[in-house]
Amino acid sequence: MTYAIVPAGGHGARMGSRRPKQYLRLGRAPILVATLRARAPPPALAGHRVAVPAPPRAATRRLLARARVPKILDVVAGGGDRQESVWRALQRVPEDARFVLVHDAVRPFVTADLVERVRAAATHGAATCGMPVRETVKRVMDGAVAATVERQGLWLTQTPQAFARDLLWEAHDKARRDGFAGTDDAVLVERLGTPVAMVPGLAQNLKITTPEDLRTARAWVSPRRRA
Ligand code: C5P
Repeated sequence: MTYAIVPAGGHGARMGSRRPKQYLRLGRAPILVATLRARAPPPALAGHRVAVPAPPRAATRRLLARARVPKILDVVAGGGDRQESVWRALQRVPEDARFVLVHDAVRPFVTADLVERVRAAATHGAATCGMPVRETVKRVMDGAVAATVERQGLWLTQTPQAFARDLLWEAHDKARRDGFAGTDDAVLVERLGTPVAMVPGLAQNLKITTPEDLRTARAWVSPRRRA
């Protein structure tokens, strides 16, 4: 069985809105709902989902029920950072889980095909998706270029990421013991020395972080644009 964790416990400081960004609207639905619907996994992947919202949990449960998002197994209280939110949800993943998929609540343009490809690449342990860097990369300090970084081999990482459940557990457990905080789950597995497969993601797999990202996302779903 594969289960999915959807970390949605952020406060969206970079969005600058009072409401956490995952509850802002995209088309007719909040971003969190749009993401959970978009991920509608193919039957082989039909695991349950665990969302991890900011409080209040009851309101999120009601929201997901009203939107008839299928297969919500549990709504777990989020932690102080993304890693803690995923860890808390991982505790609640059922015993029969062999694989766990982790996907950010603020990436609503994910496709079932991408989920399937990442899941398939994780058969031997762990996989992420991402895009090779196409632009020239510079390190900037105090408003000036300090260095140009060789872009050969650099990828921007996205979610979904998929893991054998025991491996993800071990990776989180070790990070906690070491006091290590990562910005994704793959880095925790990398720290164990275990290979993480990289599969091509999607240019459209936008992570809605800033007001500009939200404007872009809304333009993509606007009926006028689709027409
Ligand atoms: O903060 P960042 O943009 O990296 O967040 C990525 C995802 O992690 C978002 O879906 C956000 O809601 C989630 N998150 C979380 N718990 C936190 C912080 C972020 O679940 N404490």
